[in-house]
Amino acid sequence: MNKKHIFGPVLSRRLGLSLGVDLIPFKTCSYNCVYCECGSTTDKTVTRQTFFPAEDVMAELREVLAARPHLDTITLAGSGEPTLSRSLGPVIAFVKHEYPEYILSVLTNGSLMTDAGVRDELLPADRVIPTMTSVYQETFERIHRPHPSLRIEAIIEGFVSFRKMYNGALWLEVFIVPGVNTTDVELVGFKAAIERINPDLMQLNTLDRPPAEGWVEAATDIELERISKVLGRTGIEIVGRKHPVSRVTRAMTDTADLIRATLSRRPSTLEDLVQTTGMSGSEAVKILGMLERNGEVTSQRGTRGIFYTIVPR
Ligand code: SF4
Repeated sequence: MNKKHIFGPVLSRRLGLSLGVDLIPFKTCSYNCVYCECGSTTDKTVTRQTFFPAEDVMAELREVLAARPHLDTITLAGSGEPTLSRSLGPVIAFVKHEYPEYILSVLTNGSLMTDAGVRDELLPADRVIPTMTSVYQETFERIHRPHPSLRIEAIIEGFVSFRKMYNGALWLEVFIVPGVNTTDVELVGFKAAIERINPDLMQLNTLDRPPAEGWVEAATDIELERISKVLGRTGIEIVGRKHPVSRVTRAMTDTADLIRATLSRRPSTLEDLVQTTGMSGSEAVKILGMLERNGEVTSQRGTRGIFYTIVPR
């Protein structure tokens, strides 16, 4: 079966070997982040919808998980905001009921956690990972270019409410955009909000792939260390630009399809592809060359080298 909703497994910097589940059409999101690795948002919305029947996603999961592959996690993520999907709750419930041995993570921008219904649907997940970039509306708008109805104060209250009712692991991603959310005032704001949210883990992250806006830069390791010290909290993990060692086994037999599927979700360097797919460098180079000649893939220089991107059709 050709998979529409399942991708990977990919080797995630933050989660290890992760089978991705995408519940959202490409770039349907409540934000249009300047650092988004998937380009500009094409449908900016806060309206939850049934984009695809939950049963279609479940059928794909059944097929992929039939062999009980080794995975560190199954992750609801992708190229948009997963909580916008009304399939969120049914798919989470399905995975936890049918495949309780797998850790289920949800990567979310957190903007819909103001909604009690969304918070309830997230409860059975093992790990919920929302993002915060500032406690100030002006900075929040500069980084996320959010739907006009969204207020960061209300979103942070949503995180606090969720923490009070959630027994799973709440990991808070704090995404650093140097020169925008790195001032003393910003860090003081972070510190107070993090104390209120009380996450189990805070992941300090920064740009890793070509961003939607060219002016966005990655924070250096030194800057991330400095911010970590200022926040002065135990349970901070600097994700930065660290890359784990590959433990991936081949999950797809057609290597060109594997590269297409990986690049359709996120631009990647040759090194990324070798790590996430488990194929050799020479094999990946050969296939990338073929895909470039076919016009299926383009390349662009970024901070970590040449990034390959799928050409939308
Ligand atoms: S980074 Fe995430 S939240 Fe931001 S625009 Fe991209 S998909 Fe949406």
